[in-house]
Amino acid sequence: MLGKKKATGLDGSFVQCLGCKKTLFRREFEENLFVCQMCGHHHRLSWRQRAEITFDEGSFSEADAGLRSVDTLEFPEYREKLESAIAKTGINDSVVSGRATLDGVPVSTAIADFSFMGGSMGSVAGEKITRTLERAATDRIPAIVFCASGGARMQEGLLSLMQMAKTTAAVAKCREAGAPYIAVFTDPTMAGVLASYASVADVILAEPKSLVGFAGARVAAQAQVMKVPDDFQKAEFALRSGMIDKVVERRAMRSTLSSLVRVLIGGSR
Ligand SMILES: [Zn+2]
Repeated sequence: MLGKKKATGLDGSFVQCLGCKKTLFRREFEENLFVCQMCGHHHRLSWRQRAEITFDEGSFSEADAGLRSVDTLEFPEYREKLESAIAKTGINDSVVSGRATLDGVPVSTAIADFSFMGGSMGSVAGEKITRTLERAATDRIPAIVFCASGGARMQEGLLSLMQMAKTTAAVAKCREAGAPYIAVFTDPTMAGVLASYASVADVILAEPKSLVGFAGARVAAQAQVMKVPDDFQKAEFALRSGMIDKVVERRAMRSTLSSLVRVLIGGSR
């Protein structure tokens, strides 16, 4: 599953790249971690694909899988949307969290899945991110969070916005405990997620050309009074602006994270 924007299946053996529209061999495309060999377009991953390509084989164990949002505001059609997202993705909310090892180093991790209601952060996603960071702080192990979200979930109103403060406070707990926190921005990392736990990590990496910004592109365009660069709101623009530390291609992400966690824990474990 690559979410709504998944590469178009032509038949079993071929896929069409969403970037350059060229036809690719499915097997080569998958071996290349869902990155187009022709144009380098990084296609979105499900949480499971992300876990598989990042952590030691079979090491991921999920926590808090049973947490489910309730429709506190009785927002129109929210229950139906939740049920349909749960049925479509097989997960209960937009973030899957737990523990894993990376080249033998234990980490606390959370992975957002854009295919679940655009990765939006409601009370469950916020709680899972918070617990992920708190587990890291308690055990003094690194936290690695993969972001993929359009922002806060409007159907939960203030309860969603409250997650911004809650998750950010949990980052402070990591810092006090000396547990390093790494955020990885994937396409897209936007709005209420960017403006909370995502932006206050010790180290911020991003996949190439990921959308990174606060307001959506259309809103930003309407508000512009001057010309913006072509890569406005892309990872490369965020790097030049000093918002992130490094743009890392997917095939180098695992080794980069592995080196980082070893440096950040002082090579003592
Ligand atoms: Zn391509």
